[in-house]
Amino acid sequence: MVFGDRLEWVEGWGMATGGAGYVFRPSDASGVAEAIETARSAGLAIALRGAGCSYGDAAFRPESVVLDLSGLNRVLAWDPETGIVDVEPGVSLAALWRLTIGDGWWPPVVTGTMEPTVGGMLAMNVHGANNWPRGTIGEHCIEFDLAVANGESRTVSQKNDADLFHDVIGSFGQFGIITRARLQMKKVYSGQVEVKAVSAPDLGAMLNLTDDAKDKWEYVVGWIDTFARGRNLGRGLLHFARHLEEGEDDDPAASLDPAAQDLPANLFGVVPKGLMWHFLKPMTNRLGMRFVNFGKYLVGSTVADEKVYRQPLAGFSFLLDYVPNWKNIYLPGGLIQHQSFVPAASAESVFRDQLEICHEYGMQSFLAVLKRHRPDSFLMSHAVDGFSLALDFPVIRGRREKLWSMVRALAEPVVAAGGRFYPAKDAALPGELYRSTFREGQLGRFAGIKATLDPDCILRSGLADRLIYED
Ligand SMILES: Cc1cc2nc3c(=O)[nH]c(=O)nc-3n(C[C@H](O)[C@H](O)[C@H](O)COP(=O)(O)OP(=O)(O)OC[C@H]3O[C@@H](n4cnc5c(N)ncnc54)[C@H](O)[C@@H]3O)c2cc1C
Repeated sequence: MVFGDRLEWVEGWGMATGGAGYVFRPSDASGVAEAIETARSAGLAIALRGAGCSYGDAAFRPESVVLDLSGLNRVLAWDPETGIVDVEPGVSLAALWRLTIGDGWWPPVVTGTMEPTVGGMLAMNVHGANNWPRGTIGEHCIEFDLAVANGESRTVSQKNDADLFHDVIGSFGQFGIITRARLQMKKVYSGQVEVKAVSAPDLGAMLNLTDDAKDKWEYVVGWIDTFARGRNLGRGLLHFARHLEEGEDDDPAASLDPAAQDLPANLFGVVPKGLMWHFLKPMTNRLGMRFVNFGKYLVGSTVADEKVYRQPLAGFSFLLDYVPNWKNIYLPGGLIQHQSFVPAASAESVFRDQLEICHEYGMQSFLAVLKRHRPDSFLMSHAVDGFSLALDFPVIRGRREKLWSMVRALAEPVVAAGGRFYPAKDAALPGELYRSTFREGQLGRFAGIKATLDPDCILRSGLADRLIYED
């Protein structure tokens, strides 16, 4: 192969799936064009990649070109008056909020980590803990530039090209390369949020409290103790948060200073956070996790219950960044996540089934997160008017096949209830189950746009093959 020196092992964020690909890391449009041309002449498919934070096979494809766009990371324009920013696709969420917070603006939608790139976030149409009031990131995008497979580029705006705009965002990089995006940031009057912690004794209470909070608080997110059973099944803790109103913060300039948002360098005041995952690793087994879940619920439902406090925005939003490389606790096998979205009326019975299925398989989730969602009008939308439950599972040698078959078992009640799945988190879903969640005509529309914009099907990924292209 002519560019064999580019051959690298590329994997999903969960480290459980990967493949060798020819990695190109352009830093400008001409580098992107060169990579496309090289792939074409070698007859290879191209998988687009941002920061590689998708858990499974969304951002690589074995024996293909992997076009890593994280080097296109320039801020092209920032207007602190209007809060409108123009960026290249490789600008990370971290760079984005650091740019805007000092001027009193915060990204309207953030993910649990600040590592993803703007291109990757739009391609997956990410949601945050404020999905109910604010929708997905795509709803805050004004326009983007799309380079399609034949090398042409076009500007697609929410206002003037509503159909294509809603087709491309959320279609996991299958229609073209987002090379620039214009986003509207959200005005904030403080770098802090007010947080309320609440406990719930069972799944029904978790869902009811989440639903009650959705119109009162900007952010609503729940954690579930997946080891609890019987009348405690689905018990957990919820965190609600709201931005401070103008005048509520005595010193907004201080709290909006990006330095005031830095996550602590040491955990518990002593342990350098870079070392923390080594301390957590011995707990990363079913017995250890049962104990951790029990302890977390015990503290959260007693001394910490109903506590109200203020916290820096970054600290509240990017909880998963507190311990760098925490995913290494799952080595050597890595982890997968399964996030399903279920209409509100069926959520209790579907999530109850899912938690019971995990018990029956003897493979409880080590981290379970609950959110409230609203539907949106993107072609490949993963959201419904309901709830999502994200379940993390370790991949253990000798049990991989069993885990994959459990994912199928977890997915079946979701399909029956008219739910959806989130490709950004997926590594194991059978394609026919994913496809069966779409309304008639939606996948035909996807195929039609693909045939127009990328007739040779050059843009592919392991995930797109598995969920869409392969029977
Ligand atoms: C710890 C953690 C927490 C997370 N929390 C959340 C959360 O709260 N909410 C949520 O919604 N998601 C969450 N995610 C998932 C993550 O936000 C998405 O997977 C996101 O797409 C990652 O962005 P990325 O830049 O890493 O893209 P990648 O993972 O590298 O790629 C994602 C997709 O975008 C495509 N792509 C990348 N760049 C471009 C481009 N310029 N043009 C077109 N297509 C492109 C790729 O082909 C791929 O299909 C989380 C992930 C992690 C690891």
